[in-house]
Amino acid sequence: MATKLPEVDVVIVGLGWTGGILAKELTEAGLKVVALERGAMRTSENDYALPNIRDELRYVVRHDLMQNTARDTITVRNNPQQEALPMRKLGSFLPGEVVGGSAVHWSGHTWRWTDMEFKVRSNYEERYGKKFIPDDMTIQDWGISYAELEPYYDKFERTAAVSGKAGNLAGKIQDGGNPFEAPREREYPLPPLTPILASEMFSEAARNAGYHPFPRPSANASEPYTNPDGSKFGACQYCGYCQRFGCEANAKGSPHITVIPIAMARPNFELRTNSWVTRILKDSDGKRVTGVTYTNILNGEEFEQPASIVLLCAY
Ligand SMILES: Cc1cc2nc3c(=O)[nH]c(=O)nc-3n(C[C@H](O)[C@H](O)[C@H](O)COP(=O)(O)OP(=O)(O)OC[C@H]3O[C@@H](n4cnc5c(N)ncnc54)[C@H](O)[C@@H]3O)c2cc1C
Ligand code: SF4
Repeated sequence: MATKLPEVDVVIVGLGWTGGILAKELTEAGLKVVALERGAMRTSENDYALPNIRDELRYVVRHDLMQNTARDTITVRNNPQQEALPMRKLGSFLPGEVVGGSAVHWSGHTWRWTDMEFKVRSNYEERYGKKFIPDDMTIQDWGISYAELEPYYDKFERTAAVSGKAGNLAGKIQDGGNPFEAPREREYPLPPLTPILASEMFSEAARNAGYHPFPRPSANASEPYTNPDGSKFGACQYCGYCQRFGCEANAKGSPHITVIPIAMARPNFELRTNSWVTRILKDSDGKRVTGVTYTNILNGEEFEQPASIVLLCAY
């Protein structure tokens, strides 16, 4: 029997970027929020520092920061007629399993979409006609425009310490930036990372061929930085151990050093680690979600956590 816990306003399933951002914003709005994360707590100081973080066997081969597919995994099928089969070997898809989620071991490329991507169905229909997209294809417009999202892209870039060069400031094309990007209100919070020799050679060759090379925007701080919430970043050391590793220099924009500690400092937030959500609960007519069931994976105890709002942030 699962132990039924007191109801809260919000339960967040999974504490990566999406869960972390929502935890910060919703606790700021005064809601009582509980986050359930199947992974453990790890910190930059204890877990991602030199020299231990350079352990390629542990992080690259044994996927230490990632979902353990022997215990639990996603299933895959190519069409509704097939039987879905479990994915038992990680390939290029490497979902995280730790406080901070996949963004502890992500790379940090941070592209913005252009308006075109938000209206992909309308664009296809306009160009190729209403019958072009088959009936059983679920492709849709997002129902939100780039202009509406621009302030939030900007907020994220400042939160995550994104380094880059603007190519389009309020409609005015900028030298050295991406001339095809959608208009942005202001520059990136940090200048671009220093290019390596290969990038310099490639840029020169591209420019000579008439193209417009530009530095890739990325959440790797090019210099020491304090974000608007007061989270502190060190400067990138160009170690090359971004993907699959936590950052040794606290330079990579990750939720465990930004939004999550801010939520954790508030009395209306509670994080429960090693808490694996197994079921979404609904009311008797099946129309309203009422909470979740989860298991403490350290001792097998099962709990029911009722909530007014359930947010699935599990990748
Ligand atoms: C190796 C790698 C490199 C990447 N590089 C880039 C990049 O350069 N640029 C870019 O834009 N994107 C990149 N991505 C993608 C990006 O990191 C993810 O899209 C993003 O971090 C997902 O955030 P999320 O909050 O949705 O999920 P996650 O950050 O994955 O968080 C989900 C959390 O939910 C937990 N969870 C899952 N199921 C349960 C459950 N049943 N109960 C409790 N907890 C659960 C997980 O343990 C995890 O901590 C990369 C991803 C990976 C894996
Ligand atoms: S120091 Fe730079 S290259 Fe190394 S992991 Fe951190 S952000 Fe990535």
